[in-house]
Amino acid sequence: MQLFPLIADNWKMDGGVAFGVVPKSIWSRLHTADENNCISITTRCLLIIHNGRKILIDVGLGDKQSEKYYAVRFRETDVNIIKSLGQVGFCADDITDVLFTHLHDDHVGAATRINKNGNLECLFPKAQYWVSYSHWDWALNPNKREGAAFFKDNLIPLMESGRLHLLEEGTQPFENITLRLYNGHTRGQIIPLIYTSNQTIVYMGDFIPTQYNIPIPFIPSVDIEPLVSLIEKEQFLKEAAEKHYILFFEHDVENECCTIVQSAKGAVSERSFKLNEIELYDNL
Ligand SMILES: [Zn+2]
Repeated sequence: MQLFPLIADNWKMDGGVAFGVVPKSIWSRLHTADENNCISITTRCLLIIHNGRKILIDVGLGDKQSEKYYAVRFRETDVNIIKSLGQVGFCADDITDVLFTHLHDDHVGAATRINKNGNLECLFPKAQYWVSYSHWDWALNPNKREGAAFFKDNLIPLMESGRLHLLEEGTQPFENITLRLYNGHTRGQIIPLIYTSNQTIVYMGDFIPTQYNIPIPFIPSVDIEPLVSLIEKEQFLKEAAEKHYILFFEHDVENECCTIVQSAKGAVSERSFKLNEIELYDNL
């Protein structure tokens, strides 16, 4: 098994959105806000090469939306998933599977683009697409609070491709990867646990988007059920400390990975590091 972290976007998010009920006087000690009260975030995808498959987890914002859309996200224009794939020697045609943690626009947008004829098409022509059944249903019929993150043009081409697979809870289509569902951030978010023979790497998605979100109350304000997030997070962090999981952060600019220990204050980061700084034994 080979793992390649790939940056799809570097962008900014309102600090209040990122930390929910935590006052700025506290979160700003950890994370500096700019003049718009925004903090820098990234979208770090993960390419898993295993047993002949090239599985990409999440893909980023993409480039098919309006200028106004990108202006409020303060996105760097020279970063995208295809460029990052190219930097490790692969192209869109190579990808056999795209696994979406969920279908909020910053996770799924780049999976489709507008082609030369002005039509929507899938960016990865040979890929099978995977998302949870409960989340697909949720995304197609969004509530008014969460609706701004779901775009029909991000979703319909996937459905029309004939290559979209909707996963029931407990279904495990990938070898050495367990898919779990969590419901606090959105309904049916997939969190993959990836097993090499010596480590378990957890792709954190929007479950715990950055290392700064580890303290229990630091739950983003966009979570649809923060009290569910709280319980899910507390249970997961206990398990992560006991089992020495490596947490791989999708949105943390500075901290790619960390391990967890329990302290008097609860779960805290033990140390942060990049995935390529640790030895991963192959499970073949
Ligand atoms: Zn999300």
